[in-house]
Amino acid sequence: MSDSGIIHELSQETIDKIAAGEVVERPASVVKELVENAIDAGATAITVEIRDGGTSLIRVTDNGVGIASSDVRKAFLRHATSKISSADDLMHIHSLGFRGEALSSIAAVSKVEMVTKKSDEITAAHYIIEGSIEDTFEEIGAPEGTTIFVRNLFFNTPARKKFLKSPVTEGNSVTEIVERLALSNPGVSFRYLMGQTEKLVTAGNGRLYDTIYEIYGKQIAKSLLPVKYQNDVFSISGFIGKPVIVRGNRAFEAFFVGGRYVKSKILQRALEEGYKGYLMQRMYPFCVLGLDFADESYDVNVHPTKQDVRFFDEKKVFDSLCQEVSRLLSEIEDISDALPKKEDRPATVVSGAEPFESGRLMEIKEQITKSIREDSPYSRQYEDVFIRTDTAPVVPAVSEEVISFNEKQESEQKIEQLSFLSEEARRKHRIVGEVFDVYWIVEYDDSMYIIDQHAAHEKVLYERFMKQLKDKEMTSQMISPPQIVTLSFVEEEALRRYKSVLEELGFKVSHFGGREYALDAVPANLYGIDSGKLFVEVMNMLSEKNKIDTDELVMEKVASMSCKAAVKGHDHLSFAEADALIDELLTLDNPYHCPHGRPTIISMSRYELDKRFRRIV
Ligand code: ADP
Ligand code: MG
Repeated sequence: MSDSGIIHELSQETIDKIAAGEVVERPASVVKELVENAIDAGATAITVEIRDGGTSLIRVTDNGVGIASSDVRKAFLRHATSKISSADDLMHIHSLGFRGEALSSIAAVSKVEMVTKKSDEITAAHYIIEGSIEDTFEEIGAPEGTTIFVRNLFFNTPARKKFLKSPVTEGNSVTEIVERLALSNPGVSFRYLMGQTEKLVTAGNGRLYDTIYEIYGKQIAKSLLPVKYQNDVFSISGFIGKPVIVRGNRAFEAFFVGGRYVKSKILQRALEEGYKGYLMQRMYPFCVLGLDFADESYDVNVHPTKQDVRFFDEKKVFDSLCQEVSRLLSEIEDISDALPKKEDRPATVVSGAEPFESGRLMEIKEQITKSIREDSPYSRQYEDVFIRTDTAPVVPAVSEEVISFNEKQESEQKIEQLSFLSEEARRKHRIVGEVFDVYWIVEYDDSMYIIDQHAAHEKVLYERFMKQLKDKEMTSQMISPPQIVTLSFVEEEALRRYKSVLEELGFKVSHFGGREYALDAVPANLYGIDSGKLFVEVMNMLSEKNKIDTDELVMEKVASMSCKAAVKGHDHLSFAEADALIDELLTLDNPYHCPHGRPTIISMSRYELDKRFRRIV
């Protein structure tokens, strides 16, 4: 029979390209695969370097066992793996990879160069493969271990290349992956370079606490509670943050099951449920928690890019985590002594430095010692920054009847108050006093007016703020000492993006080290408030994806948040201050609503009062 059919076998190259689509989504997934290979190879020191967010170059160097020259070509074949040999092995797999797809997939869509040497071989293998096509295979001299360069990712698949985000965004994803890998492998010393900048170095001394310290900084590290839980099926270990560490998103929640990073709704909900009563709504805690099962009672979806996990006994997992978290939180006082003490801070011992860079060991030692140095009087004075508590607004207790009265009056107020803030009326105001620390009562004409001091104050500040901005009259006030804040990666990214806007508003920020930033100055009219807290809230807001883009909107938002914070800082007004507040209110275009749309003033007529007391029927 002649071959006139329309069905034909795909070439290996095409198959690899298709497979690559599943394994290699972006630079971060390449980094994940290469680092996991290094870990599987028993590496204790791994260097990751990226340029242009990993799009032009990814380098991963390890001090693992290396690949035998005779195995190098095989390693780049699809479904070539040294980790399993039959389906039976799947049941007790301990390595991170085993599908044998990563190297072949990566080589299908980039230019890969590998130098690898096994300890029992005399020479190293130098292998270059571009778009699945071998270019070089030779013997060279090199130290033990493996280095892989991945250049020009997706050079031959333009459609995929188009889907890559900006180098900054891709780089951020790589950072996230490297951090997770470091957290799940505290026994491995990681060094991570972004271009020329060293972004992260971990000691790899096996202590998770130290890794957390190295990634998140001192402020976070000193507010942790250790978790050590065990039942007949699984154990939970790691750290959770004391409620002073709160975030507006889940960026600081990390879960690992069997050493793998996972995203799990069950675990998230269990954790957050455990924090109920300790955190405000829509605030999220910090955690780095690992679950380890005695047997196969969970199923990590082994698709390389997915991070799902399925527990066979979800309820048990949920209940255990939730109860353990709330138990730990309820015992905070007893536990604080058990926290790592000063002398337990990250050690400077680093074992097994990466052979490809001989100076590495000393370098890491110095780096880490520097970053955690406790004796600096400069760092000690910031011991108590990054505290985010007490954000609960003061809500005065009001009976239901009063609420219904307020609501009813809201519709009526609009007509009556028209004249209330006129200049003429102002002279006839009689300020009666203040109730519940927040409402000012004013008598005018035939009505009683109730002013929400917070809403009014916010409104006044906001308008002032916006006017100064418009007139370019913003002034900055230095704070001394500067407040140190810890930012998440996306927040750092937002800071870079909006730095000029924030400066225009009067915020001055400088890099302090690691994830920490020094807030040196704030808008002058906000002086005196908890500006560190406000700033973290602002960065949190700005880092929310796709929410804000124009500078104008950013300014408005920040102004409104700032005013809200400012008002909270200044409770209790004197009569004179209340008087001045009303004065300023009446100069505004829309004095009747605060920047968030709440009313500032409501009223009740004498007629209404008379009716309620049945003076008239
Ligand atoms: P898998 O990890 O699923 O086995 P890969 O394509 O990622 O498949 O790697 C193929 C094989 O190449 C691995 O099984 C391993 O034997 C070898 N290998 C890859 N990277 C390294 C490394 N850094 N050090 C030692 N061996 C490696
Ligand atoms: Mg692999």
